[in-house]
Amino acid sequence: RSMSSVTIPPPACMLRPLEAPLRYLFGPGPSNVPPRILAVGAKPIIGHLHPEMYEIMNDIKRGIQYAFQTENNMTISMSGSGHAAMECAVFNTVEPGESVLVAVNGIWGERVAEIAERMGANVHRMVKTPGGYFSNKEIEQAVEKHKPVLFFLTHGESSAGLCHPVDGIGDICRKHNCLFLVDTVASLGAAPIFMDKQNIDILYTGSQKALNAPPGTAPISFNERACHKMFNRKTKPVSYLFDMTHLSNYWGCDGKPARLIVYVTHYVPHWCCNVVTTVISSHVLQDLRLPSVTTIAIPDGYEWRELLAYIMKHHQMEMTGGLGPSIGMVMRIGLMGYNCEKTNADMALNALADALKNCKKSKA
Ligand code: PMP
Repeated sequence: RSMSSVTIPPPACMLRPLEAPLRYLFGPGPSNVPPRILAVGAKPIIGHLHPEMYEIMNDIKRGIQYAFQTENNMTISMSGSGHAAMECAVFNTVEPGESVLVAVNGIWGERVAEIAERMGANVHRMVKTPGGYFSNKEIEQAVEKHKPVLFFLTHGESSAGLCHPVDGIGDICRKHNCLFLVDTVASLGAAPIFMDKQNIDILYTGSQKALNAPPGTAPISFNERACHKMFNRKTKPVSYLFDMTHLSNYWGCDGKPARLIVYVTHYVPHWCCNVVTTVISSHVLQDLRLPSVTTIAIPDGYEWRELLAYIMKHHQMEMTGGLGPSIGMVMRIGLMGYNCEKTNADMALNALADALKNCKKSKA
């Protein structure tokens, strides 16, 4: 047999047209993408060095500055999901051996703690049960004790359904020469955040939640304090791809001529209204509820997986269980951006009521 002949035939699946069922994505993301944003994805591809590309990237930057409410020049969108921005923030601002303080009240703080540990930071966790929140006093005490270079807080803790207050924390961090990093992957566009006014040094989000874009791009912004720290390091960041020295150049943020632009992203930010879901009992304080993701205590006697499977099968609707420490505690309904309509909230509640009627309830 000749070395040039194909011996592995094309798989039958590659010869079939791709099918994607239409579903109501009422989980914690991805959310349904509205037609006007889907249509943007069908535009022709242009070259990464074409002048139109620079214009599009500048527009994206301005869109993110608006959505984040910041004038930071160092504002870009990463190629990758929310995790890419998480890693970019930590890898660039922290050097091995430096102290990092992480607020853990659900899965996302724990994830950042692990990312920081993997790159050799000296990580200190402040831990609460899922849905718990940290007072500014507790935060200040921990900052004084551990003297971190970075303090991480999740604004919208999607595993617990909590929207954490942010006011005053940036000032505490400034006073103690520490950077304030905030994750708004599940909250940006659903709950107000003001990067500049709230003295947040680094802020990131994801595209596939309240912003209603496809997954795969993660906006992130660094202020002057953060830039000063990350561009005066002794060591290079552990990741080449996420090195802000390169990324800031690709995005024209460093004032130097662009070398090569490799990041193609479509990003359409917009603010959305609050979720209108009727709140069913859960463990999060009423006034700290995350508007984009509502956690619902699993009704007594029901198997949550069965409820979710019933809702998917009979209502073509995604809802999800808990995540990390909230598994088995809660179910989660997300109504984000374009999905955030009263009719959708009613539809979700009807589906839930139908599942409660038709799924078995244990005697216990
Ligand atoms: N942070 C929060 C608060 C999230 O809700 C998520 C995703 N559920 C992430 C980070 C990670 O984002 P991604 O799944 O896009 O990597």
